[in-house]
Amino acid sequence: MTLKIHVDMEKCQHYGQCVFDAPTVFRLNEDDKLEYESTADDSERDNIQLAIDICPMQAIKFVE
Ligand code: SF4
Repeated sequence: MTLKIHVDMEKCQHYGQCVFDAPTVFRLNEDDKLEYESTADDSERDNIQLAIDICPMQAIKFVE
């Protein structure tokens, strides 16, 4: 199963906490701006959920 992920870039402050929890999905680019994969394997679900929970801006969500 493939997970779909959305980050509200209006809310994201590019702190990068999500990067620590799910580095295969989230990364900071050379300008320290968040980039992310909009899809991920189901095996990443727990890591992405941690990122959702830790994001101080509540900017990350799963897309149903
Ligand atoms: S933790 Fe939230 S605010 Fe920080 S970079 Fe990730 S999505 Fe953006």
